[in-house]
Amino acid sequence: SAKAEGKATSQIFHAQMDVDYHYRQRLKGDLRQAIATGGLSLAFQPLLDISTRKVVSCEALARWDHPELGPVPPSTFIPLAEEIGVISDITEWVIAQAALQCSQWPGQVGVAVNVSARDFRAIDLQAVVETALARTGLGAERLEIEVTETAVIEERDIAINVLSGLAARGVGIALDDFGTGYSSLSYLSALPFSKLKIDRSFVADIAEKPRALRLLTNVARLGRDLDLVVVAEGVETEAQLNAMVDNTTIQQVQGYLFSRPLPQRDIAELISRLNAGALAQTKRRIG
Ligand code: C2E
Ligand code: MG
Ligand code: MG
Ligand code: MG
Repeated sequence: SAKAEGKATSQIFHAQMDVDYHYRQRLKGDLRQAIATGGLSLAFQPLLDISTRKVVSCEALARWDHPELGPVPPSTFIPLAEEIGVISDITEWVIAQAALQCSQWPGQVGVAVNVSARDFRAIDLQAVVETALARTGLGAERLEIEVTETAVIEERDIAINVLSGLAARGVGIALDDFGTGYSSLSYLSALPFSKLKIDRSFVADIAEKPRALRLLTNVARLGRDLDLVVVAEGVETEAQLNAMVDNTTIQQVQGYLFSRPLPQRDIAELISRLNAGALAQTKRRIG
């Protein structure tokens, strides 16, 4: 009967919820442990100048390889870390580690780190950044803080305060995942952004859909009009890249077409290889 069926479905549903609940409880405990024992690592993904194809910076992305469950994606463990109040331990560690790695990369390649809305209240981000710069000798202009629309809107006043301090110090401030959060645009002029990272959902269809390309073109124009460096995230195909080169004012690109996020031991070599390749191409064009 429908009633029996309903009951069975509900039992399965609740059994699944139970699994999810226990899974999440376990992950929370294990995440605390991983943070305390150096169980997290960083991957780095390059951002390239669209015209020279040189690596200008790399984004640091947190990784958690669980000893029994394997890799847990940041889309799972970052929200858990926020929930149990340990996100700022991750942020502090990421900033220190990213600055250290960056100080060892060839040339003037910079590094970008992601911060969470919670960090604005939980820690003194300016002090954390100063410490990381002092310890590594990295110039402030080589560090960039990525923040989402949601974070700056949730913590508007304190975000303006903290990010203005960092910007005055010369640290870059990037608005991440642009276009996916609130569509109130007023914060774009209220906050000291230097870069706009257009979310990959604006890139996905541009090679097939003229309207998608026109939307991206106009979002990029908005960023340029505000004197922001404009980046496209999630570039996966040559066709997408070509459409951007031909139609938009996008200055930097990031995505699987160029490189997946790589473990830190591989990133210096990738930078050298990509930047040597970019140079060789430039020389060929000249010669
Ligand atoms: P995000 O900051 O927007 O980082 C870019 C994400 O897009 C990364 O996912 C990256 O692997 C992925 N991506 C890059 N290129 C492509 C592409 O061509 N196609 C597709 N489909 N995806 C691409 P990841 O590493 O899984 O990180 C997801 C999100 O987790 C990040 O989004 C960021 O919001 C958050 N996150 C990662 N590390 C940290 C961290 O240390 N702190 C904080 N607060 N959040 C972090
Ligand atoms: Mg980011
Ligand atoms: Mg992003
Ligand atoms: Mg994103």
